Amino acid sequence: MSSNVILWFRDDLRLSDHPALHEAAKSGAAVIGLYVLDDSRRPAHEMETRPLGGAARWWLAQSLRRLQESLAAIGGTLVLRRGPAVKAVTELAREIQARQVFWNEIAQAPELARANKVEAALRADGIEVRTFPGDLLVDPAILRSKDGRALRVFTPFWRRVLAIGAPPKLLPAPTMLPSIADIPSETVDSLCLEPAEPDWAAGLRQTWDVGERAARQRLKTFLAAGIAGYARGRDRPDIERTSNLSPHLRFGEISPRQIWHAAQFAAAERPALSGDIDKFLSELGWREFCHHLLFDTPEMATRNLQPAFDAFPWRPDRGALRAWQRGRTGYPMVDAGMRQLWQTGTMHNRVRMVVASFLVKHLLIDWRCGERWFWDTLVDADAASNPANWQWVAGCGADAVPYFRVFNPILQGEKFDPQGDYVRRWVPELGGLPASLIHQPWRATPLELQSAGVRLGTTYPEPIVEHRAGRERALVAYAKLRAA
Ligand code: FAD
Repeated sequence: MSSNVILWFRDDLRLSDHPALHEAAKSGAAVIGLYVLDDSRRPAHEMETRPLGGAARWWLAQSLRRLQESLAAIGGTLVLRRGPAVKAVTELAREIQARQVFWNEIAQAPELARANKVEAALRADGIEVRTFPGDLLVDPAILRSKDGRALRVFTPFWRRVLAIGAPPKLLPAPTMLPSIADIPSETVDSLCLEPAEPDWAAGLRQTWDVGERAARQRLKTFLAAGIAGYARGRDRPDIERTSNLSPHLRFGEISPRQIWHAAQFAAAERPALSGDIDKFLSELGWREFCHHLLFDTPEMATRNLQPAFDAFPWRPDRGALRAWQRGRTGYPMVDAGMRQLWQTGTMHNRVRMVVASFLVKHLLIDWRCGERWFWDTLVDADAASNPANWQWVAGCGADAVPYFRVFNPILQGEKFDPQGDYVRRWVPELGGLPASLIHQPWRATPLELQSAGVRLGTTYPEPIVEHRAGRERALVAYAKLRAA
């Protein structure tokens, strides 16, 4: 039998700090990289994992191209196949007479189930399977509460993670990877991951540089030039003080361990920044927290973590949902966020909270509708962070926002976008208004509107719900639920 090894890439599209690749390269065998896209049209309940949304598919296409290039540069190959993983992996293993298949685990129930199926089929063919820890700082199976569940409050969770200490040392990327030529493969183009007609991805192309090298460069630049003032500046969408690493993390172009070690190194070199760096690492902790929740509740995108919310009287209002999706609610901060999302595939975290709160509280629309829209439009759409944050905002999640907290989109705008620059960028039709009016154009006099070139209800919508009325309606609905 040959000594060929398959390296099954999943949400870990990089060469460095890749435990499975590191071990495969050490074996001295020919290593064939494989990526399997399973997006065949089957009923939802038959899909093994949640199909990617449009923006994430675009990202995946770029990321696979970068990975192919990096592998080719060290003599390696990335084979692309379609279909259920069990079929694709076992077929390739037979074709190239593989002796072993390696992969990094993904600590999510559907991914574990998929990997178990693949493992069983390979073992039945006499092929050895070797798996390695995945992209979390701590394995969710070992960090449990006294009653054996994932911790549901962030602060004690993060304290426990910190008490475990530094994650393992980083692994270097292989410098050579002998492979086999001419294995039948799809191309990135033939996987049809990118939009064609219409091609809506121009804004994504302008915004993002995808791939492992770009991720590492982004981290380096952020720690050198962006981290100072992060603890306070991270809430300001107008000045962009965050790392923008989330889609790179989502696709495993960089590992949380790499971020952790680079940040600790920066803190040791510049102790004055340790407050900012601790805050940054605790945000990485939120990612970890969400993944630990998902480990316990695989159906987190559809099921309330607090069952009492199953009786919540959400309002089905397609018109309001559509206005929210299109950035036409009449609230400039909300509309700016939704348009940034549509054009670039991302939205600042503070604004994500504002738009999500507006949907579930002011409009009383089911958080799942918002979660699905984000899933389709975010390049960092993540099976753990997206539903966990939506549930957090809606109040039905873990460590969630108290029910009486209804983000005021006007005050949030005035506080976190004080000059209105963020709104001006994404809602240019309001660009002529002064900072004092840009977050509530309906307060402008007819003359002020006219001189800014704004006609409310024509060039920019009137608010689809009056703030006070929306807030009151939400409080009543939430209070009823608490009383029930
Ligand atoms: P930084 O501030 O630089 O933070 C560093 C890293 O920490 C991020 O890259 C991210 O991996 C992690 N992080 C930061 N905040 C959070 C958080 N609240 N929850 C989980 N991880 C966090 N993040 C996603 O990665 N994917 C999603 O699908 C997603 N959906 C969200 C939906 C809603 C309604 C909300 C309120 C937040 C959501 N977030 C999601 C979290 C957060 O908005 C993004 O991680 C953050 O905006 C990414 O920007 P950054 O990389 O510059 O973050």
